[in-house]
Amino acid sequence: MPLKKPARAAVAKPAAKTGMRLTRQRQILLDLIDKTGEHLDAESLYHLAREKDPKLNRVTVYRTLKLLKEGGLVDELDLMHQAGEQHYYETRRKQEHAHVICLGCGKVEEFFGEPLQQLRRQIESHFAFQVVLARTEVGGYCSHCQAMRAREMEQAARTNSVKPVRA
Ligand SMILES: [Zn+2]
Ligand SMILES: [Zn+2]
Repeated sequence: MPLKKPARAAVAKPAAKTGMRLTRQRQILLDLIDKTGEHLDAESLYHLAREKDPKLNRVTVYRTLKLLKEGGLVDELDLMHQAGEQHYYETRRKQEHAHVICLGCGKVEEFFGEPLQQLRRQIESHFAFQVVLARTEVGGYCSHCQAMRAREMEQAARTNSVKPVRA
């Protein structure tokens, strides 16, 4: 039987859909992003990747992240720029979820659920649109930060009320 595919194809391991070749650097970063299940920024990923391969440099790591993003393997998030300008990476293998970000302490929660799929379906039918990618971010204050803010506001109100009023 004649071999239809070149033998090389088996070694190159093309990534699903995109046919992107996974070089060693790409595989290291993809594994890190897949495994942590967290939202890590490029700098943290660079340090983790260096533990796996000390020869990796910053430029390669940043370029690889860009390629993984372009190849549709990872998502780049800004998480409302809560902690500044850095971007965070997470695997696209995860089920669709919304990010719920505390603007006070920066805690990020993930919301998975049917309402997200429902929103996607409604948008598709409403605009006759084919949704490829959806990113939902919700900003606000976690219960801990709400309590802190309430206390601060109370204190501020008290300080204002004891100000001596001149006649
Ligand atoms: Zn908080
Ligand atoms: Zn996430």
